[in-house]
Amino acid sequence: MSLAELPLHGFERPASLADACATLSRRAGKGEETVLVAGGTDWVVSQRLAPLSLGGELPLVLDISRIPELLGVKIAGERAAIGAAATYFEIRHHSALSRRVPMLTAMARDVGALQIQARGTLGGNLATASPAADGSAALMALDADVVVASVHGERRIPIAQWFTGYRRTARAADEIIARIEFTLPRTGAHQVWRKVGTRAAQSISKVALAAVGEYERGRCVRVGLGMGSVAPVTAALPTVRALAVSPGPLAVPDDQLDAAVRRDIAPIDDVRSTAAYRAHVASALVRGFFRTLRPVSNAG
Ligand SMILES: Cc1cc2nc3c(=O)[nH]c(=O)nc-3n(C[C@H](O)[C@H](O)[C@H](O)COP(=O)(O)OP(=O)(O)OC[C@H]3O[C@@H](n4cnc5c(N)ncnc54)[C@H](O)[C@@H]3O)c2cc1C
Repeated sequence: MSLAELPLHGFERPASLADACATLSRRAGKGEETVLVAGGTDWVVSQRLAPLSLGGELPLVLDISRIPELLGVKIAGERAAIGAAATYFEIRHHSALSRRVPMLTAMARDVGALQIQARGTLGGNLATASPAADGSAALMALDADVVVASVHGERRIPIAQWFTGYRRTARAADEIIARIEFTLPRTGAHQVWRKVGTRAAQSISKVALAAVGEYERGRCVRVGLGMGSVAPVTAALPTVRALAVSPGPLAVPDDQLDAAVRRDIAPIDDVRSTAAYRAHVASALVRGFFRTLRPVSNAG
């Protein structure tokens, strides 16, 4: 078979979110498969790994990368909304996000390298649901909501309920991630992004930690955490979060903190690292974050 004889995907570029939802719903109703493609940095790679099955019907590709409702970053009061198809490049250069959520912009700077940042999106990162996903870890620390759209309207899913298993999410087949929303961390919040990989760029995390510590009248009142590559899904570290607020970061001995980390993660051996190394690094990152969580006098 020559290249010219290979079956091709149908390709459409819907003009609006409503058009995309209508196509998705119509085709799902007829049992026809549709693939949404934003940056293509996950999907295209997966196609190379799984060669086209010859002769079969290929799914329709819906290019959602230019749908206006999925683009841009909006800040209204203390809420931020990031379009599902906004790129890492846009996120890392957004001035209000850099000021208020430096952890998120640091994460965006660490994804792949410039080529991936120019195409890749948070919507794609959340939909692929890799346990190593950096964007998902940062959004977990922000306790973000994932807003999905379909012909039936919108649905808001707290990120803690988004990942339902290894590479599985709460998204229904006829739903499109429209945007991600979260409350901006309070002024003075302590924010950390730490990615441990083989090298500085083009490296999938061995372990990554996103962390936000918020203060009220000098007391740490909320800690948000997201950790990548230590469990089948992005880890929220609930036991560790609770310890940070009570008894508080300075009152937790290291061995109690390490035990809490171990309870919250389930690392494995794979091609990138070992379970033992991941557990060690996870503890070290959390200890490091706790050490920087000090009572502050005036942060609101
Ligand atoms: C060289 C390289 C380096 C990488 N480095 C990193 C890294 O450092 N950190 C990291 O986290 N990831 C990394 N990735 C993975 C990838 O770039 C990210 O996961 C990226 O966020 C995917 O976004 P995308 O828009 O390209 O997704 P796409 O490939 O367009 O889509 C991925 C999946 O999500 C679905 N999807 C996309 N948008 C939506 C939506 N709005 N609603 C519903 N479903 C949707 C698609 O149908 C598809 O199944 C890397 C990839 C490559 C190739």
